[in-house]
Amino acid sequence: MLIKKILITCCAAASLLGGAAQARDTLRVGTEPTFAPFEFMDTKTREFVGYDIDLIRAVADKAGYDIEVVNMGFDALIPGLAAGSVDVVAAGMTITPERAERVDFTKPYYTVGLSMIVKKEDAGRFPDFKSLANQPIGVQIGTTGADKARGIPGARVQTFNGTNEAFMALTVGHVSAVIHDRPVLSYFMKMQPRAAKNMKLQPVLEDSQQYGFAVRKGNAALLEKLNKGLDAVRAEGLDKKIHDKWFAQ
Ligand code: GLN
Repeated sequence: MLIKKILITCCAAASLLGGAAQARDTLRVGTEPTFAPFEFMDTKTREFVGYDIDLIRAVADKAGYDIEVVNMGFDALIPGLAAGSVDVVAAGMTITPERAERVDFTKPYYTVGLSMIVKKEDAGRFPDFKSLANQPIGVQIGTTGADKARGIPGARVQTFNGTNEAFMALTVGHVSAVIHDRPVLSYFMKMQPRAAKNMKLQPVLEDSQQYGFAVRKGNAALLEKLNKGLDAVRAEGLDKKIHDKWFAQ
């Protein structure tokens, strides 16, 4: 009996040691997947895909981790880090001073600006953010686009959980405009021509913003690994390849 037990213990220990060379820890990556082409669900494979997913996978790989993508509301991502339900946020999240008080951001990995889509028939009436005074405006909850809309005098801001719902609200005329990150608006215009048929992406581009991956406040060890991973990914030109994959269509 005793011998058997010892044998089992030995084997378990040996397999643990043997496995250590290959087994990698998994980083739980929180995202909000209605933000194409940065993160969205591939309707065929039902997998979460996009620029951010590929980039964080490459960065994590350099840092020695596999990833597991966790689908969350955009406004749940920062609380999720604090609660420990995810290790990293990769969600086109703009680095802002307010957020930087609650989480730690990696070096910036992407630069965008805010823009707006309106109904084609309203294109002359609503050419820019200023013209949206006193109008109903659709935004995604907790985003910098929502902050922008709130700063427009008299605006009646309608917040939606996902980007798609905000687009839908514009289609049915519940809002006069959707304010969001420009690459996401232009990807929608290009990739969903039927839904976007009666819409116009205005040329406005404001508020240069940079995306960063976020970790729990004070998780300096992981932050350093991710920053080094990002450097390694850039040194190999992998970020450029990932960019071409999602943006050069
Ligand atoms: N970049 C914007 C923000 O951080 C929008 C991000 C998003 O909707 N996923 O608020």
